[in-house]
Amino acid sequence: MAITGGEHGREATPHLPVTPREIADSALEAHRAGAAIAHIHVRDEDGAPSQDPALFREVIRHVEARSDLILNLTTGGGGSPTEEERLRPLELEPELASFDAGSMNFGDYVFESSPSFLRRLAVAMQKSGTRPELEIFDQGMIEACLRLHSEGLLDDPLYFQFVLGVPGGAPADARTLCHLVGSIPRDAPWSVTGIGRHAVDMAMFGIALGGHVRVGLEDSIYYRRGELAESNAQLVERVVRLANEASRPIATPADARQLLGLQGRAGKAGA
Ligand code: ZN
Repeated sequence: MAITGGEHGREATPHLPVTPREIADSALEAHRAGAAIAHIHVRDEDGAPSQDPALFREVIRHVEARSDLILNLTTGGGGSPTEEERLRPLELEPELASFDAGSMNFGDYVFESSPSFLRRLAVAMQKSGTRPELEIFDQGMIEACLRLHSEGLLDDPLYFQFVLGVPGGAPADARTLCHLVGSIPRDAPWSVTGIGRHAVDMAMFGIALGGHVRVGLEDSIYYRRGELAESNAQLVERVVRLANEASRPIATPADARQLLGLQGRAGKAGA
């Protein structure tokens, strides 16, 4: 689940967690509702996106003292972070971090992840023992990941996150999702999130196709049309109900670690 993101702020919804403590508490609440992984952005005192490791560390400390929830730190950031800033969360040697697998028009701005930066990011993640969550906004990004994999810069298992419905990216519809799922290695774990009003139908398609699901206030602030979501947990609870109806079990963090080949922070040297 994606807690707060780096795009909209409190002006968009009063329910958005902003401080490290709020972000951690929201992650824990969503975990109690069934989430196994929390994708973490942090914000500074003014609510603006930040890549400051000290803020990430506060979130990590609070969550790790209370749960075994997997934390997935952003290397995409928000606003217009420099390449150096994007890499900073890796100083904390997270077990999982996002890997935005190419450049794109993202709404009204250009979200740039150049080939040279992606190589640098991949190497940095190998060094920090971090599994990349390969964020796929369009078909070509899969090919870019497979190329890096063949160069030995991305390790198995490749874990894909399809982020669909961003203006400028691939649309959030069943045809597109089927095509993307058919384009990744057969045994690669994958998850999907639909941006905005596409959150529920993409969750249902993901469950039906045997994948996993991401939801959260980073991706959609509404529970349904005209009704703001009250919390990340509320969005997770709905996915849990849908999965139960489809007889898909809910992964614990231990299940997710096994699926993604993670050892947990305790299992990592120096962590
Ligand atoms: Zn994010």
